[in-house]
Amino acid sequence: MSETTKLLDLVIIGGGPAGLTAGIYASRARLDVIMLEKMMPGGQVSITDDLENYPGYSSISGIDLAMKMEEQARNFGLEIKSEEVFEIIPQAQNKGHIIKTDVNTYHTKAILITSGAAPRRIGCEGEDSHIGKGVSYCATCDGAFFRNKEVVVVGGGDTAVEEGIFLTKFASKVTIIHRRDKFRAAQIIKERAFENEKVEIIWDSVVEKINGDPLVSSIDLLNVKTKERTNFKTDGVFVFVGYVPNNQFIPGIIKRDSSGFIIGNENMETNVPGIFVAGDIRSKLLRQVITACGDAATAVAAAEKYIDWNYKEEQYL
Ligand code: NAP
Repeated sequence: MSETTKLLDLVIIGGGPAGLTAGIYASRARLDVIMLEKMMPGGQVSITDDLENYPGYSSISGIDLAMKMEEQARNFGLEIKSEEVFEIIPQAQNKGHIIKTDVNTYHTKAILITSGAAPRRIGCEGEDSHIGKGVSYCATCDGAFFRNKEVVVVGGGDTAVEEGIFLTKFASKVTIIHRRDKFRAAQIIKERAFENEKVEIIWDSVVEKINGDPLVSSIDLLNVKTKERTNFKTDGVFVFVGYVPNNQFIPGIIKRDSSGFIIGNENMETNVPGIFVAGDIRSKLLRQVITACGDAATAVAAAEKYIDWNYKEEQYL
């Protein structure tokens, strides 16, 4: 493990749309900035088949949009390091915060957390043991394996209904299983599902168990209203029941909401001076690419001001 003695201006943790937007803004502002990303830049949007509500594009795949953002950030000079952050150690206001990764220790005037969120699991019996054997959290990645097969989608939000419609390109039938009798998804997305002949819907039901040896062959369902239990034959289970925040490395001193998302004010400042938050990891109403990008632009502007005010004369160490 090496330790950098240099005091950076800004470290961006996470390379999804929020992180990449921050990279564009911070590099363009000529901050001394790096991005730490444990996998490939792009984040969740990379596994989205099609975006039709990102202004300027009536249709663009998530991976194409993420690649354009990465190229734009690198063109402004952003350095992206393939490292996993294990710990943030906050310091006093103008002493420079510390970040520990699997290979380095960094000192930085400001930190922007854009580590995003990961798919939530149903939590039922047989889910974990069937991942890669018929249970999937990514239609774009795994949809083609279910050509002419019957699959179920679990969830009732934008992701579940949209990805369910996408899966009809491959599957002969897609059954959406939702725990209530109304989708949470946007009206236009719901209408498309209701009109699609390959889509069927089972309301008021939850998956209690996923069966099959070794591949998924059926699920056990419970109707939460009638309490009736049924077995439903299926070749695949696609789970889209929301997201959980990637907050494992974030110290408890940084305030979060009851679901673990980080609380930031309108300037994306957390309760710890010099630590900012943007994108899906932030506690907020709408988690989309556009809100992630907006958060990030604001966060970088606020971080620049913070650095100016607190490090006018370099008083570090
Ligand atoms: P979401 O909006 O949080 O919806 C999660 C869905 O899963 C809800 O229908 C919820 O049911 C259900 N659910 C949660 N836990 C469950 C469990 N244990 N068992 C069964 N069902 C469960 O998540 P999302 O659809 O992934 O969307 C996340 C964010 O991305 C949202 O802000 C969404 O608007 C945005 N998004 C936007 C677009 C777009 O604009 N085109 C596309 C995708 C996502 P209840 O409804 O009963 O709570």
